[in-house]
Amino acid sequence: MQLPIDIETVKGFLDAEEGAALYQSALKAAPLGPLLEVGSYCGKSAVYVGTAARDAGSVLFTIDHHRGSEEMQPGWEHHDPSTWDVRAGSMDSLPFLRDTLRRARLEEVVVPVVGRSSTVARVWRTPLAFLFIDGGHAMAEAEADYRGWTPHVMPGGTLAIHDVFPDPKDGGRPPYEIYRMALTSGAFVETGAKKSLRLLRRV
Ligand code: MG
Repeated sequence: MQLPIDIETVKGFLDAEEGAALYQSALKAAPLGPLLEVGSYCGKSAVYVGTAARDAGSVLFTIDHHRGSEEMQPGWEHHDPSTWDVRAGSMDSLPFLRDTLRRARLEEVVVPVVGRSSTVARVWRTPLAFLFIDGGHAMAEAEADYRGWTPHVMPGGTLAIHDVFPDPKDGGRPPYEIYRMALTSGAFVETGAKKSLRLLRRV
């Protein structure tokens, strides 16, 4: 894996080993169809998955409203004051995403979709080879992402979920809950894991 950008210059919470696992998994799935990510933030994971899309001749859609999820708001653990848009009186991570994609020369491969993921999921019709859920970590949002997007994963396609912490001491539960939902649904089997990343395949 040769990333087209110094990944340390991109804000975000995906670690390098998780990123490498994400790349390998996306690369394997990408010949089957398009890839989609929920939760772009500043584009760190979009670089890993987008590079896989580029290497396989596919395309990545990355969805975010860019106003920040709960844990990124002022006063919360993951807030970054440089993402604050004074005029809007809210966060705006879209300029950072665009800067990342431009510097990584991935603008022809990665398509940012700006809006609420549940809104886009309702009208989406294209089967996905690869779905990465890394959006809001509140239960309502994680569950909406799970219910809205997983039906679009094609048989043989991959579902990746970030921030899965089996032990509640390590982090919030909703990503773990939707990972459990995927397994108990019988529609997915686990194929790999790296730190808090889980990889599943649609049967
Ligand atoms: Mg994450």
